[in-house]
Amino acid sequence: MIKCRSGQCRNLLYYVISEEDCIGCMACKRVCPTHAISGEKKEPHVINQEICIKCGACMEKCQFEAISLKSDYKVSVMAN
Ligand code: SF4
Ligand code: SF4
Repeated sequence: MIKCRSGQCRNLLYYVISEEDCIGCMACKRVCPTHAISGEKKEPHVINQEICIKCGACMEKCQFEAISLKSDYKVSVMAN
């Protein structure tokens, strides 16, 4: 597997929670190692990008496919 030597690729990726798909089960919040996820029970949760370390644990845990990995890179490529 080829890895980005500069680490820049990782910086362009971020996890987001879909407000529409999140049922507020709190499963992601419980597994997040940096407590980057906030939200009340049965309310859509949000990820604080400032403290998210992009480990992916939340996306693996979510059974409702409410969390996805986004990339700014794709957006900039599509814009060109
Ligand atoms: S695990 Fe999924 S559905 Fe549950 S609170 Fe997190 S994002 Fe929402
Ligand atoms: S990717 Fe990891 S650090 Fe970021 S919100 Fe999900 S569980 Fe927390």
